[in-house]
Amino acid sequence: MQSTGRFTPALRRMMNDSYDRCRTCGADLPRGIAAFAGYASDGSPLYVGECCGSSIQELATHVYWWWEADKRVAPDAVLWRYMDLARFVALVDQQALHFARADQFDDRFEAASGAKGLKPRWDAHYLDFFRHAIRTVPGLTEPPPDEEVEREAARLLQEFSQSAALDRERLFVSCWHANAGESEALWRLYCPPPIAGLAIQTTAERLTRAVGDAPVKIGKVQYVDFASGFAGIHDRIFVKRKSLSHETEVRLVIQEFHSTGEIGKTIPVDVESLMATVVPSPFAPPWFTRVLEATLRRYGVSTNLRDSGILAEPFF
Ligand SMILES: [Zn+2]
Repeated sequence: MQSTGRFTPALRRMMNDSYDRCRTCGADLPRGIAAFAGYASDGSPLYVGECCGSSIQELATHVYWWWEADKRVAPDAVLWRYMDLARFVALVDQQALHFARADQFDDRFEAASGAKGLKPRWDAHYLDFFRHAIRTVPGLTEPPPDEEVEREAARLLQEFSQSAALDRERLFVSCWHANAGESEALWRLYCPPPIAGLAIQTTAERLTRAVGDAPVKIGKVQYVDFASGFAGIHDRIFVKRKSLSHETEVRLVIQEFHSTGEIGKTIPVDVESLMATVVPSPFAPPWFTRVLEATLRRYGVSTNLRDSGILAEPFF
């Protein structure tokens, strides 16, 4: 069956929380066999294995779910966003989440394939991959001549690199920190005293629900040692350097197919359902909590404030 590449928000949501499980019969899907995402005859979304494949009336896409499985975020995973007051006011005032374009981050390796020194190894690997693909196109009675294979493989490699570079202008990201508790290091990083900041606490499920129908993909960032490894060719935006692994990042990503020139996006969110709690920085002065309360009241947001756990008193 030909895939149509048509994604409704409901199908996208279903794909975001389904990996190796058939959503119709509940069967575990075997590794190495694609799942199917699409629609039943009544238009309802489906995410199924071969077990229930016959219920698919329209196939949106095959899902090579084991490529995605590393990115899986449990719906109840606790996520944090540390920020200063200005960003917080922008969030509750605009009722929108800011997504930065990948090339706007400080990290020069955003969406990178690997470290430049290893590019020859990467090129050799993919040239080989393309040569094999060109020689084994289904339906070929005899393989094309070697020069043609070389020419075509080189062209594909170049096309690939160009599109990878362009991705940096077509990907938009909102970054979150996965952690059951608070991180003193991140407080110091994002709200260094005397800057009065705060952290929003949420869960993966709240976050994806809050962005509603926006075409967002959620995933855990993988940390790779670029001294010896690569980001791969699929979803490089979910791969970062090992030296950043303390961020334990979960990100929301929006992929555009054409660069529009905008350097960021704002996606409307239901702020109240997004925020489980708001935690004022433990380094902020006591009056800052009242400022936050007043801000929430002014914007009609009823989320609770909670003191930072770092303020707990020791005993000896
Ligand atoms: Zn099934």
